[in-house]
Amino acid sequence: MWIVPEKEIAGLMTPEAAFDAVESVFAAMARGDAYNFPVVREAIGHKDALYGFKGGFDASGLSLGLKAGGYWPHNHEQGLINHQSTVFLFDPDTGRVSAAVGGNLLTALRTAAASAVSIKYLAPEGASVLGMIGAGHQAAFQMRTALRFGSFDRVIGWNIHPEMLSRLADVASEMGVPFEAVELDQLGQQADVIISITSSFDPILMDAHVSGPTHIAAMGTDTKGKQELDPALVARAALFTDEIAQSLSIGEFQHAAAQKAISEEDVTALGKVINGDHPGRGDAEVTIFDGTGVGLQDLAVAAAVVELAKQQGKAIEVEI
Ligand code: NAD
Repeated sequence: MWIVPEKEIAGLMTPEAAFDAVESVFAAMARGDAYNFPVVREAIGHKDALYGFKGGFDASGLSLGLKAGGYWPHNHEQGLINHQSTVFLFDPDTGRVSAAVGGNLLTALRTAAASAVSIKYLAPEGASVLGMIGAGHQAAFQMRTALRFGSFDRVIGWNIHPEMLSRLADVASEMGVPFEAVELDQLGQQADVIISITSSFDPILMDAHVSGPTHIAAMGTDTKGKQELDPALVARAALFTDEIAQSLSIGEFQHAAAQKAISEEDVTALGKVINGDHPGRGDAEVTIFDGTGVGLQDLAVAAAVVELAKQQGKAIEVEI
């Protein structure tokens, strides 16, 4: 099997490769060529950790495997990041493990790629102002990737902890665009595209905040109980997601679904738009992509990185 260490990922994986991998796996999911296995996520009763698996099989890309890992809230005391994961790939023809790949940076890159793919297919025409809600670890990746693939000339941002917004200002200056911290109503009025990526358990962006043609990539809610959007905003938008069942159970749409303000029929897999089987935005004023994060995204970027690592002599081969 091949091992690709976490420390090699930054030098191997490009945002372009992550974007391509995620776009094609969303398309494969919508064609029925790829499916995710049920997610396991458990509080293990040790170190306050949440541990679990996300896995799946892509019959078109021939990726089989899982990402194992989770959230260890006290890791920073040891100088480690709190989210820890490793992707394991298996040979679909024999069942033998074929690779173990550091999953921490890959998770950030595949999550950022998902919102960027949604922006490509769903953003209003001429979108030029990007609004960011959240300023944590993932937010920097989200913003950098959106700026790389979109044509934004200005970024505005809000965070519950305003002192963290300097992270977004740093990314803006690295990418050469102006950044301004704003209140939520200004953000909802001015932004053409909004990315939310927080660990909030209460709605942040309310229906009344948002006006005009807007695309929202809601990326923070990946667990039961988390929430970033007002269900009334969800109820009036055209809804898209990576995986419908997951969006209604652990994603942002869980809340509007629990209130019976939306049902499964109201939500479209983004892959359908990618495949040309759904028009996407159409005449909707607000579109929302609920990026819940699926195992197949992890497998897609991990498979891509293994190939790059082998080509560049950075993969370690071991007998198992
Ligand atoms: P982080 O801890 O680095 O940052 C958390 C962010 O949320 C900060 O901006 C913080 O100010 C804000 N925040 C914290 N508590 C809040 C509250 N009560 N109300 C409003 N905002 C609050 O975390 P991160 O690594 O940037 O991850 C952000 C979120 O994205 C988490 O919920 C994480 O689970 C989720 N995530 C989703 C995916 C996916 O595929 N969808 C992938 C990775 C992470």
